[in-house]
Amino acid sequence: MGSIALSQRRRIALAHAPTPIVRLRGFDQIAGPNGAGVEVWIKRDDMTGGVEAGNKIRKLEYLLAEAVARGADTLVTCGGLQSNHARATAILGAQLGLSAHLLLRTTSPDLRIEAAPLAGNFFLNRMLGATIELITPAQYRERNALMSDVAARLAKSGRVPYVIPEGGSNGLGSFGYVRAMHEVKKQLSVGLAGGKPFDLVVHACGSGGTAAGVALGAAQTEVAREVRAYAVCDDRATFESVTSRILDEARALDPSLPSTVHLTIDDSAKGPAYAIANVEQKKLIVATARAAGLFLDPVYTGKAFFGLVESIRRGELAGSRVLFLHTGGLPGLLAQSEDLADAI
Ligand SMILES: *Cc1c(COP(=O)(O)O)cnc(C)c1O
Repeated sequence: MGSIALSQRRRIALAHAPTPIVRLRGFDQIAGPNGAGVEVWIKRDDMTGGVEAGNKIRKLEYLLAEAVARGADTLVTCGGLQSNHARATAILGAQLGLSAHLLLRTTSPDLRIEAAPLAGNFFLNRMLGATIELITPAQYRERNALMSDVAARLAKSGRVPYVIPEGGSNGLGSFGYVRAMHEVKKQLSVGLAGGKPFDLVVHACGSGGTAAGVALGAAQTEVAREVRAYAVCDDRATFESVTSRILDEARALDPSLPSTVHLTIDDSAKGPAYAIANVEQKKLIVATARAAGLFLDPVYTGKAFFGLVESIRRGELAGSRVLFLHTGGLPGLLAQSEDLADAI
C-alpha cells in the first residue's frame, strides 16, 4: 500500500458526518453530586447512519475503498453472533453491490442458522441474505486462518474476496478515527462543544481499532490530552498489545502520524463477560435513557459509560472537559431486551 498521508488516502464517504457533539442533559442526576463539576459532551457516532450506524462505518470508509479498488465482489469478515461490525459490513456492502460472507461466533455448538433467534444484528444480516457460517469460540480463536480459507475457497469459485479483520481493526481501518478527531477539531474551531480542547476522550474498546485511531487523531490534532478506552471483554494487557500492533500498522501506512499517544486501557468496567452487563451497568443504561433520552447498549457503550460515571463518582475528573464517544450498538440493545427487564 505504501505510505500515503491520510488526506490523500482512498476513502468512500459513507458516514453521515460531522456527527453532532451534544452536552448531556441531567448528568448530575445520573452521576450524583460529583457529576455537576464535570463537563460531559457526547460525540454522537451512533448517528453515523441509519440502521448501519455506529463506529464501524468510519473504519469501513477506508477498508471498503480498498476492497473496491481491488475489484472485490465479496466481503469476508467475522464477529460475535450479534456483531455490529459484521452487520455494518453486510449493509454497506449491499449499498456498494458487494456480497458478505460472515463467520459468526456462538457458544451454542449445535445452533443451526435457521434456528438462531431472528433478533438485532443477526436478524439484519439474515434480511440482507448474507452468507453466514456459525463457528465455535475455539474456531474463533483461529479466525484469521478461517477467513483466509474462506477467501481461498471463494477465489477458486471465481469470486474476488476481500478479508476484513475482526472489528475492521487494522491500521487502515483506524484511519477512520484519526479522521474523526480531525472532524472534532473542526467542530471546536467554529465554537461548538465549548470551542476548546477536551481533557479526556472516553469510549468502549472491543477490538482496538477505534482506540488506536482516536489516540493517534487526538495526539495529532490536540483535541484532547488523553484517551481512555474501556475494555468490554479482555484485560488491559491484551488490549495494550492489540492497540500497539494497530498503532504500528497505522504509522507504517502514514509516517506523519504521531509517534507518541496518550492512551489508557481501563478494564475496570468490563463486567461479567463479553456482551453481558452486570446489574449496576444495566441500571445505568436505563437511568441514562430516563434522565437524558440517551440510549446506550449493554455490550459496549453502556460499559464504557459506566466506567466513566464510576470514575466521576470517585471524584477523579473534577473540573474536566470530557468527550464521550458514543459508538452505536442500538441493534445489540434491542436484541437484549429480555436481559434488561430486571433493570426497568
Ligand atoms: C465495535 C464497537 C466498539 C468497539 O470498537 P473497536 O474499534 O472494535 O474497539 C464500541 N462500540 C460499539 C457499539 C461497537 O460496535
